[in-house]
Amino acid sequence: MHEKHLKAPLDLDTHRAGLISILKAIFAAETLSPSDLNQLVRNQARANGGQLYSRDELIRAYRTYAGTDGLPPFDGALIQRLRLKPVRTSSGVTPVTVLTKPFPCPGECIFCPNDVRMPKSYLSDEPGAQRAEQNSFDPYLQTMSRLTAYYNIGHPTEKIEIIILGGTWSFYPETYQLWFVKRIFDALHDYGAGIDRSVKIEGMLFEQSQLHPLRNTTHVDVHGEQLDKSYNQIVQSIYEAEMHRSRDVMTHILHDGHERSPLDEYATWDELEAAHRFNETAPSRCVGLVIETRPDQISAEEVLRVRRLGCTKVQIGFQSLNDTVLKMNRRGHTVAATRRAVRLLRSAGFKIHAHWMPNLYGSSPQADVEDYQRMFDDPDFRPDELKIYPCSLIESAELMRHYKNGTWEPYSHQALLDTLIECLRATPEYCRLTRIIRDIPGTDIVDGNKLTNFRQIVEDTLKKRGERSRDIRAREVRYQQVVAGDLHLDEQWYDGGIGQEVFLQFITDTREIAGFLRLSLPTCDPITPELAGAAMIREVHVYGQAIDIGEVSSGKAQHAGLGTQLIERAAALAQEHGYDRLAVISAVGTRAYYRKRGFIDGVLYQMRTLTTDSRA
Ligand code: SF4
Repeated sequence: MHEKHLKAPLDLDTHRAGLISILKAIFAAETLSPSDLNQLVRNQARANGGQLYSRDELIRAYRTYAGTDGLPPFDGALIQRLRLKPVRTSSGVTPVTVLTKPFPCPGECIFCPNDVRMPKSYLSDEPGAQRAEQNSFDPYLQTMSRLTAYYNIGHPTEKIEIIILGGTWSFYPETYQLWFVKRIFDALHDYGAGIDRSVKIEGMLFEQSQLHPLRNTTHVDVHGEQLDKSYNQIVQSIYEAEMHRSRDVMTHILHDGHERSPLDEYATWDELEAAHRFNETAPSRCVGLVIETRPDQISAEEVLRVRRLGCTKVQIGFQSLNDTVLKMNRRGHTVAATRRAVRLLRSAGFKIHAHWMPNLYGSSPQADVEDYQRMFDDPDFRPDELKIYPCSLIESAELMRHYKNGTWEPYSHQALLDTLIECLRATPEYCRLTRIIRDIPGTDIVDGNKLTNFRQIVEDTLKKRGERSRDIRAREVRYQQVVAGDLHLDEQWYDGGIGQEVFLQFITDTREIAGFLRLSLPTCDPITPELAGAAMIREVHVYGQAIDIGEVSSGKAQHAGLGTQLIERAAALAQEHGYDRLAVISAVGTRAYYRKRGFIDGVLYQMRTLTTDSRA
């Protein structure tokens, strides 16, 4: 039952001398690349009789012995030198990804994997999915274990972006959604208070839930080529006991006076909103909350409902902007649904993170490039962030039939490279390409590209031609020291379908980006009376190492006051264009930040009245 705890942690005191000697050598070096650091650790291991310490152990030792035995006092900047993957949190927040449980999805997309151990579209040997499965898909366990793992490898855990993935969020019952989000907040709060209830919850899951990894005996191999039952049918039958446990909870709670356990997938709006309020001043704050859904699940009511959950960004599958391709892939919705969904989400101030797929059944490299161009030419799409996931052939997906009968094949390496080069070239500066190529283990891909570093290949090819991607991710300053005087404020205006969008960015002369703000100046009817007459800040993002809230850091972009300057410029622009109020779609954990900048709490948004000096 406790498989993951089998490896006993290193006894620091036994290794104290060796650990301190390595730490001193690391801190004595002026600069250290990751490979220099590896070399130094190996050299020290040889000198210390062969004991090789992991980064995790070195960080734990530094946290324990800082300020003793000649080591410097605890300093977060020194932790950074010991970290394994510094890039993950360099955009200012630490992402925590949490997967929902296996559950039916309204889609029947032929390219989608049918791994019945997972929520729809995920594969059980993807790293994030494995973590979720190990934690029985429980939101508390997933959040707590991720926070602990981040802490152990030296990442900051004060500003957290919660990314909820799996199937179609809007299709899960509302009580499950409320419970799921509230339990994530419970984990944030327990973690901040130094409490960890994981062992107890894991024990309860082992007793009661079919989703516990040692009780999930599901071994159904689904072959897309002869799919006689759908994912939805299989999931409903094999998790029948689990589905019943979940469904019966409400009856028991409402009618039998049943005392609730942490496993009961039930919470109320009042309970969630109380957790939100607690989080406003908690040590680990939620500074962004993301869900993923399908265009045809989006309505005005749904948009406002997910906003009430605390959501600030929506991942939404466009996949294609061609009705014929959507139909051939049995997407179950049209381009008109995508258009409508994006307009609704944008009018509610959400950040729009689209998924788009080249190489779908019925498409071609040339058609893909045109489709991609349409995504940015048409004001109703223009996503803020984008994942480009070329269609991969997975054994359990129905696409196997078309592969076997010769009506579909994966693009060759060169065709895929040429397509992606054109995509990168066509991406405007306001869009962030978060991922190119989904990180699917090569063993799951039947045929076609297995290179997960394809983005690097595309970027290197562009570089050889003297070009580079203009998207946000390619221009982020990351760990560079930024002097405020080297930055200038650049403004890009574009039609966002429901009104003008202004992308304000602080950039260097070579267009490296240190911070940006997305401002909407809507001209359509507001989606809720709360937003009547208001311009809207959809996102403020300043780069630099994510650091403790309230901590002052020198030299890093995040604390050059760029956020405040961006907000003031947005307020001035909104006022110049006739808006008397400025709304912000703040995350629960950033409410205090906006209050300090003149915003007051509304129902779903925070709002600032724009007066002559643009301050309330
Ligand atoms: S909507 Fe998404 S998760 Fe559902 S079948 Fe289609 S691709 Fe898969």
